[in-house]
Amino acid sequence: MEAIAQNELRIPCIGAIKRSLCKAECCGPIPFPSEQYYQLKHLAQVEPVTEVRTEDGRFVFPIADDLRCVFLNRTTYMCSIYEQRPQVCRDYGHIDELPCPCFKTSGLMRTRAERREMRRKIDRDMRAMAQRQLRKVRRKI
Ligand code: SF4
Ligand code: SF4
Repeated sequence: MEAIAQNELRIPCIGAIKRSLCKAECCGPIPFPSEQYYQLKHLAQVEPVTEVRTEDGRFVFPIADDLRCVFLNRTTYMCSIYEQRPQVCRDYGHIDELPCPCFKTSGLMRTRAERREMRRKIDRDMRAMAQRQLRKVRRKI
């Protein structure tokens, strides 16, 4: 995200970060196409605790100890690979399956109560996804 902003056309991510409305809640443990991930890994902001590969090897989930994306700068909430971020990041907030906690897909801001509820849900979903990936690793050990 020059900033997080995957959706610069409709969703003003940088403005939301500057106003402290958003701390890049969308940047959790996402699946990266493997080749892309290993090419960009040197730009990671933190070391992953583990990297979980899908069985076919096409995708990898790097998991950091705070369950945020390894490419997220924890101070500025900017993305260190913004120009090369995966499609899932570009889609965030634009499709119903990947809802932004701050803005609707139309670009209209959610109410404070909606933002709070969405943040809880995203946090829950991301933790559940990371736990699922970690369980897969443990089963293989
Ligand atoms: S949570 Fe929403 S406003 Fe914040 S960076 Fe992600 S898409 Fe942008
Ligand atoms: S690659 Fe960038 S935009 Fe995508 S989740 Fe990570 S920090 Fe966020």
